[in-house]
Amino acid sequence: MKEVILIKVGELFLKGLNRYIFENALLKNIKSRTKKFGNFELLNLESTVCLVPKSEKIDLELVMQEIKDIFGISNFCRAYIADKNIEHITKVILEDLAPALLSVSSFRVESKRSDKNFPIKSPEISKILGNRILKKFAHLHVDLNSPKLVVNVEIRRTHAFIYTKVYSGAGGLPIGTSSKVTVLISGGIDSPVAAWMMAKRGASLTAVHFSSPPYTGQGAENKVVRALEVISKYSEHIKLHMVRFTKIQEEIEKKCSKELSTIINRRMMVKIAEKISIACKSNALVTGESLGQVASQTMDSIVCTDAAASLPILRPLIGMDKTEIIEIAKKIETFNISIEPFEDCCTVFTPKHPNTHPLLGKILEEEKNISSFGLIDEAVNRTKTMDVSYR
Ligand code: ATP
Ligand code: MG
Repeated sequence: MKEVILIKVGELFLKGLNRYIFENALLKNIKSRTKKFGNFELLNLESTVCLVPKSEKIDLELVMQEIKDIFGISNFCRAYIADKNIEHITKVILEDLAPALLSVSSFRVESKRSDKNFPIKSPEISKILGNRILKKFAHLHVDLNSPKLVVNVEIRRTHAFIYTKVYSGAGGLPIGTSSKVTVLISGGIDSPVAAWMMAKRGASLTAVHFSSPPYTGQGAENKVVRALEVISKYSEHIKLHMVRFTKIQEEIEKKCSKELSTIINRRMMVKIAEKISIACKSNALVTGESLGQVASQTMDSIVCTDAAASLPILRPLIGMDKTEIIEIAKKIETFNISIEPFEDCCTVFTPKHPNTHPLLGKILEEEKNISSFGLIDEAVNRTKTMDVSYR
């Protein structure tokens, strides 16, 4: 019997007239992510996408591995297709689910009739099918509360679908439905998680990394590329802009007071990232900052950082504890890359006592000492760009 993958869409039910935009984006993403496995037909049923393989040779388990990382999906399952009559539905269950039914001791049938023209009501469908299963598999008993196997039957407009195991999807919104954002990515634990969280809400990603050779090495840059490769599993290919930050850091180190250098460095990063964003039509900057985590992330420091840019700076981790961030980093598999011991440019020239309550007026005064405009333009113009993708 023919097997398909049923994909239930996520939050799209919240969308009104714009819903088709989200559905089209999800269909496009599913299509582009699954084409490497072979040809499929995609049916857009109500709140559900049905992925029909065009060849018996396609390994649906591999396809499901791919689907679990696509945003915009609440859950998915392998399902058998049956004609919309109770005899054919029975045949599919008794034959195709036989191995599953033989391997358990109890079951329950759960029926859903979204096509109200189907002549038998849901409770009655469950009852008929339950009795027929019991008749063929004498070792089984019905357990309505905690069965070892749930046989799900969905009667939809075109067909009936029968499935047992349902997997959780990645949630969120389809990539490409929330505009483009620029992630400042450091290779630490936090910024890859911030990137993933923005992708989860449907944003397309571009990334900026600052390095300061010879103070920072090739290892740090490689690490960022590998972290982004992992993130691109969930998003799409990511353009990474590599910025040489050495001259600016040295200038700040020479001409600004030690305790304000961290925040002035951060403001320079933001100014450069903003220029790159405008050039590549990205609408916001994203950092992995979390309120109060370190000196540059106190409320006063955040106010000073924000004043350096006119684009919004989004901080998806702002209210999260480090342990919560680490939990996500482990789940999305960036953690082991992030903890590799390569120095980030932020830890070069770190002052012993950074000012945790900087004043913007004082910072603007200090910044007059550095020839920031020439240096910022030079850094932007010398930026190297590469495409990062796990595929
Ligand atoms: P992370 O784990 O992301 O490195 P962190 O706790 O080390 O964060 P900071 O070093 O203060 O914190 O950096 C805060 C944020 O500034 C980072 O999350 C990132 O968005 C940005 N950032 C820091 N260093 C760099 C860098 N070298 N290149 C690009 N962005 C950076
Ligand atoms: Mg860092």
